Amino acid sequence: MTRRIRELRETVARLHGELTRNNLVAWTSGNVSARVPGQDLMVIKPSGVSYDDLTAATMVVCDLDGVLVEGDFAPSSDTAAHAYVYRAMPEVGGVVHTHSSYATAWAACGESIPCHLTAQADEFGGEIPIGPFALIGGDDIGKGIVATLAGHRSPAVLMRNHGVFTIGRNARAAVKAAVMCEDVARTAYLARTLGQPVPMAQADIDSLHDRYQNVYGQHPVAPAGS
Ligand SMILES: [Zn+2]
Repeated sequence: MTRRIRELRETVARLHGELTRNNLVAWTSGNVSARVPGQDLMVIKPSGVSYDDLTAATMVVCDLDGVLVEGDFAPSSDTAAHAYVYRAMPEVGGVVHTHSSYATAWAACGESIPCHLTAQADEFGGEIPIGPFALIGGDDIGKGIVATLAGHRSPAVLMRNHGVFTIGRNARAAVKAAVMCEDVARTAYLARTLGQPVPMAQADIDSLHDRYQNVYGQHPVAPAGS
């Protein structure tokens, strides 16, 4: 096992803790994967193992056809979907899948989440789109994810009658998108129950998204006196 894969096993195992900490999963549903940079491999959750028992050692390594390469357990039943995304979207380094309640309620209704919040404009750049219905097994879910997210600002898709898939430049970014997606979905649901949410101007959504993606956060600062 290379050092890189050992580190990714630890990272992916630890990130699964964020799914439980943020109440995004029930029982063993939900999974995180990470692409192994420079290799046609990914690290992903094993199938059906309790969240309490997920460690670096229980993670599995698959190739980008979803075939097990290294590990003591069968890979997640969603492995084919993750693998399809990595094959089709070279810029993606992490994929997350959950059935988080509020976001999945929108998926059950077959509705995109319209952008009525600055936080949604920041992270998603507009609506969180609805994807097609697809049965598990084979490439149909992966195809639906890629068809919806390719060229879209949103790193999250609500797969109809199913749940959430998110992508990111690495696994941590994909987990963050899954957490933010559920937060936005909950607030959008509450707003809808209160009344009619107020639309935002597209120019404001664009401006917020640009600022958040390019300016917000911690950046290296030139040393004093330079
Ligand atoms: Zn699922």
